[in-house]
Amino acid sequence: MNRKISLLGSTGSIGTQSLEVCEKHGFDVIALSAYGNTQLLEQQARKFNVSYVCIYNDKKYDEMKQRLADTDIKILCGMEGLCEIASLQENDIVLNSVVGMVGLLPTLTAINAGKDVALANKETLVAGGQLVMSLAKEKNVKIYPIDSEHSAVFQCLQGNKRQQLRKMILTASGGPFFGKSYEELKNVTKEQALKHPNWEMGSKITIDSATLMNKGLEFIEAKWLFDLKPEQIEIVVHRQSVVHSAVEYNDYSVIAQMGVPDMKIPIQYALLYPDRLECPTRSLSLTDYGKLTFEKPDIETFKCLGAAIEAIKRGGAYPCLVNSANEEAVRAFLNDEIKFIDIGEIVSSVLDEFEYSEIKSYDDVSAADKKAREYVIGKIKIY
Ligand code: MN
Repeated sequence: MNRKISLLGSTGSIGTQSLEVCEKHGFDVIALSAYGNTQLLEQQARKFNVSYVCIYNDKKYDEMKQRLADTDIKILCGMEGLCEIASLQENDIVLNSVVGMVGLLPTLTAINAGKDVALANKETLVAGGQLVMSLAKEKNVKIYPIDSEHSAVFQCLQGNKRQQLRKMILTASGGPFFGKSYEELKNVTKEQALKHPNWEMGSKITIDSATLMNKGLEFIEAKWLFDLKPEQIEIVVHRQSVVHSAVEYNDYSVIAQMGVPDMKIPIQYALLYPDRLECPTRSLSLTDYGKLTFEKPDIETFKCLGAAIEAIKRGGAYPCLVNSANEEAVRAFLNDEIKFIDIGEIVSSVLDEFEYSEIKSYDDVSAADKKAREYVIGKIKIY
C-alpha cells in the first residue's frame, strides 16, 4: 500500500492509533502535526521518516526545530503550517484528527486542494457542515468518516441505495453517568468524568461523552455526512459499545455494524476503503458479552444532548454556537473553573442568547465561534 498520507493531530489518541494502522499497512506518512507534544512528534517524525512536521503552538516552534536539526524535515507551525500539510501536492489522503473547531480550516484547505479526507475531527462538520459538504461535492472529494458511529453507517450503506434509507440508529454508550439524576450529577468530580467505561480517548471527548454532548455532535455530524433530516436519526443508549450504529431501509430491514470497541477498525476502514484487511485489534466474541442492551437517552438530564439536537433543527449558526460554547465550557471544567452540570447549563443557554444567523462562509463560522466563546467566558466569571 503506497498511499501518501498527511496526519493532522498525530500525537493524540486517534493519531497514535492511526499511525499503528499506517505502519501495519506500509503507508507512506509524509507529514505529521501536533498541538504541543514536541517529544512524541519528534519520535514519530523520525520513525516514519516524514518530510514535514507542524507544531501548532508557535511557542514550541524553536524547540521543534532544535529537536530535528540533524534532519531534512521541514518544520512548520500554527494554522498556516496545518493548512500547508493539509494541501501538499504529493498527498493522496489527509487524516484530520485534531481536536476542536481548529480542524475546520485545514479540512476546507485539503478539500480545496482536491485531497480525500479521513475525518476524525467532528467539530469540522458540526461548525461548518454545509460549507464542507458542498465544497467536497464541488471538488469531487471523498470524506471518509472515522468516528465509529459514522463509519458504521458508511459500512452499512455499502451495496445499498442511499435514497432507500429510512433512518439511522445512532448508538451511544451513555457515558459514565448513565441513569443518574440531575441532582446526582451536581456532585460529579473531574476524575469521575474522565473515566469512560468502554473507550480510551482524549480528555475533551471523554468529557463530551460524560455530558452526552459527544452524541449531540455526532447527531449533527451524521446529518451532514449522510444528508439526513434530524427526524431520521434515532439515538439509542447501548452500554456495551458493540453495535456501533445501524441503518433501517424502506423495507424495515435493519443493518448494523458490530465489533470490539477499538477505533483502529474505523480508522483502517477509512484509510483502506473498500478493502478489509487484517487489523491490529482483536476478534469480537458475542458470547463473552452475552447480553446487549438498548435504552432511551435522557435528554432532560443531559442538557447538552438536547441542546445539540435543537441546534441542528434550528440550523444556521446554532450548531456552531453550541459547539464553541461547549469547547469553552469543557476547557473551564477541566481547569476547575465550573462544575460538571454547568457545562449543560451553559451550552443550552446559547439557544436563548443568540438570534438566528446564517452560515455562508468560513468568516460566518469564525464570527459565530468568537461570539459564543466570548459569551461563555463572560458567563463563567459569574459562576
Ligand atoms: Mn463516536
